[in-house]
Amino acid sequence: MSPNAMLDDPTGPVYIRTSGGMPYPPASAPLPLGIAPRQVILRDRVTIATIVPFSSPAQVPLTLLAYLSDQLNREIEKGDTYPMIDALPLEDFGPYWFGVFGAVMILGDVRDVGQVHHMSSTGHDWEKECLGSFYIKPNYPGRSSHVCNGGFLVTDGARNRGVGRLMGETYLDYAPRLGYTYSVFNLVYETNVVSCRIWDALGFKRIGRVKGCGNLKSYPNELVDAIIYGRELGQDEDFVSEERFDKIRFYLKNGKYPNGADRAEKSRLRSAATHYKLLPGDPGKQDRLMLKGKEVISDAQQQYEIAREIHHKSHGGINKTTAAIAELYHWVRIKETVSQVIRNCPECSEMNKGQAAARALRNHLPTTPGGSTNPHFQPENERSLSPSDQIQMEAAQQQQQSAEQVENSNHQSYSIPHQYNHFDMPLDPALMDGSNHASLADLPPSPFLAAGQGLPMPQLPNLDMSGQNLPAPVAMMTSEMEGVEHERAPTAREELRRRLTRAAGYAKRMG
Ligand SMILES: [Zn+2]
Repeated sequence: MSPNAMLDDPTGPVYIRTSGGMPYPPASAPLPLGIAPRQVILRDRVTIATIVPFSSPAQVPLTLLAYLSDQLNREIEKGDTYPMIDALPLEDFGPYWFGVFGAVMILGDVRDVGQVHHMSSTGHDWEKECLGSFYIKPNYPGRSSHVCNGGFLVTDGARNRGVGRLMGETYLDYAPRLGYTYSVFNLVYETNVVSCRIWDALGFKRIGRVKGCGNLKSYPNELVDAIIYGRELGQDEDFVSEERFDKIRFYLKNGKYPNGADRAEKSRLRSAATHYKLLPGDPGKQDRLMLKGKEVISDAQQQYEIAREIHHKSHGGINKTTAAIAELYHWVRIKETVSQVIRNCPECSEMNKGQAAARALRNHLPTTPGGSTNPHFQPENERSLSPSDQIQMEAAQQQQQSAEQVENSNHQSYSIPHQYNHFDMPLDPALMDGSNHASLADLPPSPFLAAGQGLPMPQLPNLDMSGQNLPAPVAMMTSEMEGVEHERAPTAREELRRRLTRAAGYAKRMG
């Protein structure tokens, strides 16, 4: 299987998403919630593998980077799936494949990126243990960068084991969490039947055909058509709803599909079943459905009872209570349930009056720079713990601090609160857009950079480490923001600051 895309020039600059829903990801930022290593089972139904996500080439062990680069070059050399003719040098491969977001499928149960580095340093053989890789990046620049594109690579030893299909399913899981709303594969040669079969099965539509697009090595006497595939992302709303959990429960318990499940739903169920498991419940109760160690609660009444019980322990606010619940339980809109519980809590009703002002303030938050109202910043409409939710939570927490503290807050304030981050991806301070470059030396070193010591770092021509060409420190920008024209879209952190600065202004006028 192969790649789809490659409209872009592999040696060109790395574009990140600057349109669609906020927050926009700063380069090399921590991964959003929900983007965590994902365990999968191969076609033999026995072999376990893990798809490990990376948000920067610097997080990938050099040995693994070199192996994947070699694999891509072999594919290019074969001349049947990728449009490039020349091999890509290693220093270009890193930013090209992992510059925005990349994932690697590795044999076995891999906890986190740290373990991948450990495997690298203890001489694991990637030829045996690395099964494939894919990237997700904007398919277009700027105002259309919320439409993404993927490139896929199945390694030599991993063919015919269901690896491509599993990566495709994971792509559909990760891409909407990264803020993309639609996926385009620009260039799937029609002769690449393995790829075409996967995209057809995963609900991609053939939205175009480019006649005679490929002058491929195996077809020297003809020009091969290319298919353009398109698919909406995150459209499986009903599948995310609570009834979905009941279907998964049914499937796990009975080993068969619920009545009326169509082909797409069957596929989703098989995929979901790799993340969920059933544990025996209390006597007389049904089995407990578990997702990554958390109990899935699909009954609305039960959700309310749990939220009330946890809230009543300490009468914490929405964010604190939501976080406490999310440590033990999973359902789709925890925050909405909590907000309902707090509204109905007699003890908190006094405090609610005091918080009404804060809430009013939050409702006055400005719209996105494009001028459209952003539903993600209205807490009541929030999905539980979406990435924008985390920013929202931070915003709420920071509003409680003085404006002065906000001005002085260092780059730590961007990092996601510990309890919300399943996957503790460290920041690479040198690569983090918008961090305070003057004090880089004072920041703790990235453990992954440390893990790579002794090996030469790959050259990353598109990432200026010196700091000279990087944007001005954020604190300076905040005061000048309104009057200055920016070529670059604001990073999530800058956007947050802008909102906080304005919010502080509202607060002053109100107070
Ligand atoms: Zn209360």
